[in-house]
Amino acid sequence: MAVNQDTKFIFITGGVVSSLGKGIASASIGLLLKSRGLKVTILKLDPYLNVDPGTLSPYQHGEVFVTDDGAETDLDLGHYERFIDENLTCKNNTTTGQIYYSVIKKERRGDYLGKTVQVIPHVTDEIKYRIRSAGSEDVIYDVIIAEVGGTIGDIESLPFLEAIRQLCLEAGRENTLNIHLTLVPYIKAAGEFKTKPTQHSVMRLREIGIQADILLCRCENKIEDELKNKIGLFCNVPQDAVIEATDVETIYEVPLLFEEGGLGELIAQKLNLKAAPPDLRKWRDFVDNVKNPEKDVTIAICGKYVELKDSYKSIIESFIHAGSGCRARVKLKWIDSVEIETNGVGDVFDDVDGILIPGGFGNRGIEGKIETAKFARENKIPFFGICLGMQCAIIDFARNVCKMENAHGSEFSSQTKFPVIDIMEEQKNLSNLGGTMRLGLYKCDITSGTKIHAIYGQTQINERHRHRYEVNNLYLKDFAKSGLIATGINPDTNLVETVELTGHPWFIGVQFHPELKSRVLEPHPLFYNFIKASLKHQEDRLA
Ligand code: GLN
Repeated sequence: MAVNQDTKFIFITGGVVSSLGKGIASASIGLLLKSRGLKVTILKLDPYLNVDPGTLSPYQHGEVFVTDDGAETDLDLGHYERFIDENLTCKNNTTTGQIYYSVIKKERRGDYLGKTVQVIPHVTDEIKYRIRSAGSEDVIYDVIIAEVGGTIGDIESLPFLEAIRQLCLEAGRENTLNIHLTLVPYIKAAGEFKTKPTQHSVMRLREIGIQADILLCRCENKIEDELKNKIGLFCNVPQDAVIEATDVETIYEVPLLFEEGGLGELIAQKLNLKAAPPDLRKWRDFVDNVKNPEKDVTIAICGKYVELKDSYKSIIESFIHAGSGCRARVKLKWIDSVEIETNGVGDVFDDVDGILIPGGFGNRGIEGKIETAKFARENKIPFFGICLGMQCAIIDFARNVCKMENAHGSEFSSQTKFPVIDIMEEQKNLSNLGGTMRLGLYKCDITSGTKIHAIYGQTQINERHRHRYEVNNLYLKDFAKSGLIATGINPDTNLVETVELTGHPWFIGVQFHPELKSRVLEPHPLFYNFIKASLKHQEDRLA
């Protein structure tokens, strides 16, 4: 267990509407506490019945974030990791699916000794157990933050809220804090902010037995003290615990805004935490860089889920981290691979400085991605292929340089004579799709003297994975003869982890997902270096 009797709990709920940024708020609170020298972890409670989001479409759920230990989790865990700079585990995300799965398994084993198995206490006990076991087993946390997915009023989240009510009772009110993120809309016609939705949402929480201690009010503009007073009075919260969450330019400003509003101090006080003065200097510098870039650089992202940017969350954030390191604003140009497939490349890439193809699954748009990789290769545009992106670059290379006619990946064609990307041996006989990919951290040995070696500055790295297919090692010699070299190999399985093209300014493919390990104050070396190369390309392009 990650707790002792001194561990405090913060519960974050959301009211009125979804998409208010509960994940960012939770991550920001985590940062404010960590910056005060406290040990903190954050857990997401997801009310849906899927065991994890691994089998969900990106359109439904956005990105699936993968942890070191190979859990497929909610994209909010990406925010948590990036804000608090800690590696999270499978114990930082729990779904209703997981809760019921373990309760039912226990019932089948006979663990409940003849009792009727019920939501209260069996399901709620399981939820409380998971909140208490969040994070790493080796750490005793000062604070565990638990974010409840969904919005107050959802039927699905009721067992989680009931568990929280019980936990507040068991751990004591002095050790628990309920923070409610709500919307205070501005009605233009009336020229007023409206507090009624917030009152109702807090009332709904109270009906369940939870009294909000702190309100974070999302609002377009600053709200006056008088209004804060009113909100406090109607919601039974002291005025200094009504904190504004006005819209900001970048999500990375949110913790600074909260700090200004006194949230860090307030939490430390209310929970009686032994907190040091906060040190947010580096964070402030980072935000300053993000808001005041010296130059722009344009990167094309060619994928098939481009309508829903959440599908590429970690990539977007990695570019912000890397851009800040280069004092550049990374402008992303979203390219639908299906469009490229239908209409060809045309002049789509004329104004871009680098091209990235991200991960993905399935046939739709695949030829558009292969065409894009070819274009970057032939026109010497910096190219970064991630997972499927790397696989597409290899398919292009096999077809168009090595003249392997109709070369393909076996995910897309079972007939091809040249399956240059093939299913991994251990994947062949799997019948379940959930949780069975090659997931999480794996080692990779890097060849000395290669570009990727120079980028990482080391010959052994560890990166996170999520895939079923791999480079077919039968063709490696042919590729190398023509200039595409496998430069990173897993020492245990011989799987190809990285490739690079010789005679090209920057053409790198990686089977892993570097975007999952980029941190605010520690941009991922691959993204950082890719931006550098793209800035160089821009100079040449404009010269
Ligand atoms: N579909 C590919 C595979 O399973 C790539 C996966 C990915 O890009 N994450 O190997």
